[in-house]
Amino acid sequence: MRELTRARAELQRISGTDQLTGLLNRRGFDQAAESALTKVRDANLPTTVLMCDIDRFKAINDQFGHEFGDKVLMAIAEVLRSFAERRQMLVARHGGEEFAVLMTGISRERAALYAEELRQACAAKEISSEEISACVTISIGLAECHGETDQAKVMRMADQALYAAKRRGRNRVVRADVLADSIAA
Ligand code: GH3
Ligand code: MG
Ligand code: MG
Repeated sequence: MRELTRARAELQRISGTDQLTGLLNRRGFDQAAESALTKVRDANLPTTVLMCDIDRFKAINDQFGHEFGDKVLMAIAEVLRSFAERRQMLVARHGGEEFAVLMTGISRERAALYAEELRQACAAKEISSEEISACVTISIGLAECHGETDQAKVMRMADQALYAAKRRGRNRVVRADVLADSIAA
């Protein structure tokens, strides 16, 4: 019986983990985010989501090959992991070259600062294999909510902000609330 429980837990862990980077995958992230959000719900703490996407990643694959592209994904995942670990954030590979970060109980100002730090840390990372060396940048969409429990909604807002960051030239952070203001204006 205990064996079965252990096997089930291991299966659960594997199904929530991204094979390439070892980060949580979308499924693992959604589950972990759900329980993190449940904790902050009653405390009415702020929640921030960062949607991060590597800029012009297709060109990296086209120019240097898929294998080097994988290496870039692993390197960026590592930057994100060490960034998030030190600050107790949740981080995941949310899709192909897209990463999601969830922070709880972090002020609006600090969250913006963290997003900017993360953007810079990714840009500064040099990725190299035998004869190739490259740097990549990421665009970040930032969305926050207070005491909100609708995870899908805040993810959607972060996604829209990310889309705006791409349109505005990439390698930047765009906040969803600022975006809403500029649409309303
Ligand atoms: P943008 O700045 O607008 O985000 O442009 P982009 O080129 O990064 O975006 P696009 O969506 O056009 O291309 C994403 C590419 O990511 C296409 C796909 O082949 C590649 N990709 C997705 N998953 C993997 C992976 O696991 N390994 C590698 N090497 N490439 C991947
Ligand atoms: Mg991209
Ligand atoms: Mg993408």
